[in-house]
Amino acid sequence: MPPYDLVLANGTVLDPSQRLHAVADVAIADGRVAAVGPALPREEAARVIDVSGKLVTPGLIDLHAHVYWGGTSLGIDPDALSARAGVTTFVDAGSAGAGNIRGFRRHLIERARVRVLPFLNISYAGIFAFSRQLMVGESVDLRLLHVGEAVRAAREHGDLVLGIKVRLGLIAGEGRGIAPLHLALAAAEALGARLMVHTDMPPPTRREVLPLLRPGDILTHAFRPFPNGPTVDPGVTGRVLPELWDARSRGVVIDIGHGMGSFSFESAEACLAAGFLPDVISSDVHALCIDGPAYDLPTTMSKLLVLGMPLDRVIAAATVAPARAIGRPDLGTLRAGAPADVTVLDDRAGTFSFMDVTGRTMHARRRLVPVLTVIGGRPLAAEDGGSG
Ligand SMILES: [Zn+2]
Repeated sequence: MPPYDLVLANGTVLDPSQRLHAVADVAIADGRVAAVGPALPREEAARVIDVSGKLVTPGLIDLHAHVYWGGTSLGIDPDALSARAGVTTFVDAGSAGAGNIRGFRRHLIERARVRVLPFLNISYAGIFAFSRQLMVGESVDLRLLHVGEAVRAAREHGDLVLGIKVRLGLIAGEGRGIAPLHLALAAAEALGARLMVHTDMPPPTRREVLPLLRPGDILTHAFRPFPNGPTVDPGVTGRVLPELWDARSRGVVIDIGHGMGSFSFESAEACLAAGFLPDVISSDVHALCIDGPAYDLPTTMSKLLVLGMPLDRVIAAATVAPARAIGRPDLGTLRAGAPADVTVLDDRAGTFSFMDVTGRTMHARRRLVPVLTVIGGRPLAAEDGGSG
């Protein structure tokens, strides 16, 4: 028996969890990372894939996606997207609530090839009415935001559920202001769990929301356009909201969550100019933005790279940082013994254009293109389809 099932040979290994950025081989055995180092014994491997000139990173973790395909209108098929996007773990941001988490688990999570880890929506029905024709926010009717049911369901699925998700704002919770946040916090506190918070148009304003977030809670859609953008005034002023700096300093996780309405170049430029980088980059990919402007996680990562965020920080924001944010230090790393989830990316030169949610276009000479995705030691071809 050869000691290794697979060696990814000669790539540039970029693993921020180990501060590793060097040409090396990655060896895999029994579904786990066996070794990372220069010139590992390839002749003893069952399979060797030459990845010279490519970036080899821990498997990408998309901290904000919607993948309850078929069970919710906004869900996309995670297996269909994973190989193409280089994503080995999708965190579902509250597609399901207490009323339908069982179906999400049985019909999708347990069957998917890619790892899916859910936040539970504080609203009983999850995100139930989300299409181009019809939009009824799940936080509009406070009777649905039942703390007892959410706590019960989160406990029943305690091996899976990462925390509570709440969507606040004019779209998700028309007229309800800050009230849904208090109910979500009550559930999170009863569970001792983290909270992921979406804000869209005010009310509530971010300045009301941010002081209530606790260490370990996640603010998603952090770089959305105005209103409820990340800076004091619209435009490139560099004046990031003091409440946002305060939130970060007490350990609130700052996440991108691109989606169809939640990432503007203007907001991102203002934050990067002020030295306020996101902790986590995520796509918020769902049925209405998978064909643009979000597309997938590497597209969102490329936008921040082109805007000036350093490559090592961009990779960290899609590997070790989301792993920490969900309390899974075994993921987002190529340490020996970790699950063999690996993404190979091409840092491609060329002429590209990117669009934000406001329709602004940005031209670029580089983008990150996934060329190989390995889940649990098994390489998927980029054209591998899904089940749905
Ligand atoms: Zn979302």
